[in-house]
Amino acid sequence: ADHTLCYPSRPQDMDWASLFPSFFPPEAPPGTPPARVEFADVGCGYGGLLVALSELFPRSLALGLELRGKVAAFTRARIRALQAAQPGRFGNVACVRGNAMKHLPHFFLRGQLSKLFFLFPDPHFKRTKHKWRIISPAMLAEYGFVLRPGGLVYTVTDVPELHQWMLQHFGEHPLFEPLPPGQLAADPLLPLLPAVTEEGQRARRAGRPPSTAVFRRRPDPPVL
Ligand code: SAM
Repeated sequence: ADHTLCYPSRPQDMDWASLFPSFFPPEAPPGTPPARVEFADVGCGYGGLLVALSELFPRSLALGLELRGKVAAFTRARIRALQAAQPGRFGNVACVRGNAMKHLPHFFLRGQLSKLFFLFPDPHFKRTKHKWRIISPAMLAEYGFVLRPGGLVYTVTDVPELHQWMLQHFGEHPLFEPLPPGQLAADPLLPLLPAVTEEGQRARRAGRPPSTAVFRRRPDPPVL
């Protein structure tokens, strides 16, 4: 249940150094700005994307949020094992147990993130369960809050109806716009995302083609 989840009352209270010790050296000169998580993988599952992000962006910190305690523990153990086997690598990724639909602004400051990932989110097929979908009009406002203007949201799903749902809701939201095709083609993550996670590999084995979409956080509207 949610009352067993740990989350900071505000992002400034989060102990980031214990999650990413190599990015918080005790000998850092005074005044050095603290390292900040830039990428978030929502519902990171068993961590396939985090491992890939670590290798592709070794200087950027990425946090996976996973609701299921056992799955989050597995992913933490996986990252620890990689760090032990390859010292000096994989220190830029971490996983916490958390409910992204409730606590995202507890973890991240306004405009902190440059990339937010939703890979194979739970489809919640029944109409009465649509309110549990992680992409919903109410949640988009929060995703827009934690993303910096120009930041990107990546979605991948093998459920065509959910893909349409996500296109519709991002398309209708004033804080988001589809990434122009030229930039889509230049993004090195795009070809990788459909098969980098455990769920993606499962979809591939089952012959279910994934659909990917990328949306860009628009600039803040002028204050009138
Ligand atoms: N992204 C992973 C992948 O592609 O392999 C996992 C996909 S799995 C179908 C969806 C994951 O989202 C599950 O592990 C589930 O526990 C997690 N999840 C669902 N709702 C969540 C929430 N509100 N906050 C964090 N994680 C959530």
